[in-house]
Amino acid sequence: MPVVGFHQARRPRQSPGARLRREFSWPRPGGVLISFVGAALVVGGALGLADSPGQAAAPDPAISTVLRTTPDASLKPSPPAPLSTLVTTDTPAPFLRSSPSASTSAVPKLSVSGGSAAPLTPVATPPAPAIKGAAESSPAHKLFTSGASVPSDQSLLNIFNPNSPLVLVNKHHPLAPVTYSPSDLVVPAVPVGSGEPGLLRAEAAQAAERMFAAAATQGVHLTLLSSYRSYDTQMGLYNSYVVNKGTAAADTTSARPGFSEHQSGLAIDIGDAGASTACEFHSCFAETAGAQWVAAHAQEHGFVVRYVPGSESTTGYLAEPWHLRYVGVAVAEDMLVRGFHSYEEYLGLPGAPGYK
Ligand SMILES: [Zn+2]
Repeated sequence: MPVVGFHQARRPRQSPGARLRREFSWPRPGGVLISFVGAALVVGGALGLADSPGQAAAPDPAISTVLRTTPDASLKPSPPAPLSTLVTTDTPAPFLRSSPSASTSAVPKLSVSGGSAAPLTPVATPPAPAIKGAAESSPAHKLFTSGASVPSDQSLLNIFNPNSPLVLVNKHHPLAPVTYSPSDLVVPAVPVGSGEPGLLRAEAAQAAERMFAAAATQGVHLTLLSSYRSYDTQMGLYNSYVVNKGTAAADTTSARPGFSEHQSGLAIDIGDAGASTACEFHSCFAETAGAQWVAAHAQEHGFVVRYVPGSESTTGYLAEPWHLRYVGVAVAEDMLVRGFHSYEEYLGLPGAPGYK
């Protein structure tokens, strides 16, 4: 109102016709000023309403007075611009505070929804990496190309990388080099059997600790019977089998040095403290609570029972319900869900029944 009054007081006397012509001429400096103030106050009112979505904004008397007393079409408020183009800071300009409720403290930080002035451009999503060495039609390949649990170090997505939890070790694929030894071996904090405390790679050790603890909460007390074995240790073990049983029989129960999963630091042999030790490393271990528990739950901790009945021609080994291999939770659970009984089949690769 002060603006209108000031404008009218300074206007010189004119005839009614001249005044009418002047009223409808353009531009009218006073009208422009009033239009700006009116639009600003309307915008301020709109912002006050947006700031308090749960409360209806009271009409500003200043705005309604201006609009009622100025019939000029140029004073009609134009539609408020989108908030995203108006509000770019947390603190509105003073003229936008149309009511006491629109104080700075009452103004929430408005997100700039609806886009910025810059045109939107699609974000290029790089294709998920494949797992090297696995067949492209394999479930393993599909798992990782779908983006599941892709490691930050993508060199680990290689079944021939001995440092990868995905490494394939069988009678066709020895560790490379055959004398490989992991650099991150630790002693897992789990109950051990009659032997010495074992060693595992750090990731597998933590998974084993979680698995043993989970079993214990359900009354199953697993023991660790064997874990990492070096190339030299495996050499001695295999040779002892050869001496006692002959090469053919030894190859069904013990890996040659460089061909053992135990040398990867990712495999364990387990016992059951609640069962007879007579079944350790024997087929009757399958009847123990420990064997049945890991058959149902090992995958939850990233382990699989590596050599199961019926897969001898694929894995090259008789069933070993005590031998678990760490492959990570994503693979272990995917293998179980899809019903695969051997890692070779899951990778879409031929079986390895014997050495080449
Ligand atoms: Zn084993």
